[in-house]
Amino acid sequence: MDSPERKTILVVDDVEVNVQLLTSYLHGEGYTVKAARDGEQAIQMVQEYAPDLVLLDVMMPKMNGFQVCKILKGDGVTQFIPIIMVTALNELEDKIRGIESGADDFLTKPFNKMELLARVRSLLRIKYLHDELQKKVIELQRAKEELRQLAITDGLTKLYNYRYFREQLQQELNRATRHNLSVSLIMIDLDHFKHYNDTNGHPAGDALLRTMARLFKENIRNIDLAARYGGEEFSLVLIETNKYAAKIVAEKIRKLVEGHPFDHGETQPLGKITISTGVATFPEDAKGFDQLVKVADERLYRAKQAGRNTILAES
Ligand code: GH3
Ligand code: MG
Ligand code: MG
Repeated sequence: MDSPERKTILVVDDVEVNVQLLTSYLHGEGYTVKAARDGEQAIQMVQEYAPDLVLLDVMMPKMNGFQVCKILKGDGVTQFIPIIMVTALNELEDKIRGIESGADDFLTKPFNKMELLARVRSLLRIKYLHDELQKKVIELQRAKEELRQLAITDGLTKLYNYRYFREQLQQELNRATRHNLSVSLIMIDLDHFKHYNDTNGHPAGDALLRTMARLFKENIRNIDLAARYGGEEFSLVLIETNKYAAKIVAEKIRKLVEGHPFDHGETQPLGKITISTGVATFPEDAKGFDQLVKVADERLYRAKQAGRNTILAES
């Protein structure tokens, strides 16, 4: 667990004989010992070595032990390193000041070796438990973040899923309303995808969906959003984009798909893999989420009727 040889203790004292005494006691127990001769050096060494414990002399010229302690305990990075204040006098006032500056324990000179080592062991145990807890907290936060990613990601294509699409588009529409901005929605459906599955098998169909997803993602801006709406339908949310610009994006993507060398494209009724898209823009086409999706869907349906491999942005 907390074997001494892996623990570093910083001894801070301006009197050489004290440093030597403390160092020899601690070395005897197998601890790694570093020594600082004044407050400034102590702070610097704490930052450099991240010790597991500090033995801090109170009476030092320039910066005294209380000041050093206050600084270390006030810094988010070093605040959990335990500090034992070493005082010459067994005075209550010193102890109160020590507690106020954040010290974890006290030791009175002249040192009793047994007492010193017992206090060191006890604080190191607490530090060890604190560190373990800290690690668990970080693990937990990671797991939570992973879980959130899973909850908003489509397993097959790794695009965002419908839930996240809905959440984000709603939010974007609210923002667009407040700031008088446009948002465009492009609904995309693969043409004759059933035929592709029937001819080349479901796994080939899955692979096509994945490639298609990557193509969409790579051809929108970082601030835009690509989601798998469901099955072989995708949706692109274009932030601060009016209809004119959205039509250009939709047409660019349609062309890109048409020209992309997908596997088995030649087996399709049109001789290649194609998509149909419906474009709708907030606020001119719709006032809210449901209506915007509905309008884009209607246009998509009409793009299909018009022969597929088509984009439609007007009713
Ligand atoms: P259209 O041009 O009118 O869109 O015709 P289509 O064949 O693409 O449309 P239809 O709705 O008839 O068929 C959609 C197909 O998409 C049927 C379904 O099996 C397939 N599909 C949906 N989700 C997946 C999936 O995750 N993987 C695979 N391989 N196929 C899927
Ligand atoms: Mg001193
Ligand atoms: Mg389809």
